[in-house]
Amino acid sequence: MAIEQTLSLIKPDGVSRGLIGEVIKRFEAAGLKIRALKMVRLTQEHARVFYEVHQERPFYDSLTQFMSSGPIVAMILEGEDAIEVNRRLMGATDYRQADPGTIRADFARDIEANIVHGSDSPETAATEINFFFNALELM
Ligand code: UDP
Ligand code: MG
Repeated sequence: MAIEQTLSLIKPDGVSRGLIGEVIKRFEAAGLKIRALKMVRLTQEHARVFYEVHQERPFYDSLTQFMSSGPIVAMILEGEDAIEVNRRLMGATDYRQADPGTIRADFARDIEANIVHGSDSPETAATEINFFFNALELM
């Protein structure tokens, strides 16, 4: 067990559907602390850099267009095993395979527009936190 930080995003569909409070409520109820938070709108170029790991995938253009289609909420979550805890609260990428009670099972109706993003390892968490937050915001 270790105290970790992870990057969480509420994607454009989560923001436009009025799910910011619902998602944050679940994080806090699970004991995750919000260490930084802001609303931003990515350009498609920003989204392409953020999702660079997926650049060879067939969904890359569509995904990066979607991620730049409206404002998103970026957060740093902190807690014991925060990366895994957040991934568990999110549920599987495909909402049809997500466990009942997870954010994606409860709210997503599309494999692309699936409400939330969460870092998947300590390495990606560090990279993704630095993508969204500068030194001042990291407190
Ligand atoms: N995605 C998609 N089609 C797919 C797989 C993924 O549109 O077949 C999108 C979806 O929005 C997903 C994101 O690409 O959240 C990143 O995919 P990843 O496999 O990293 O899933 P995640 O880590 O978000 O669960
Ligand atoms: Mg991923």
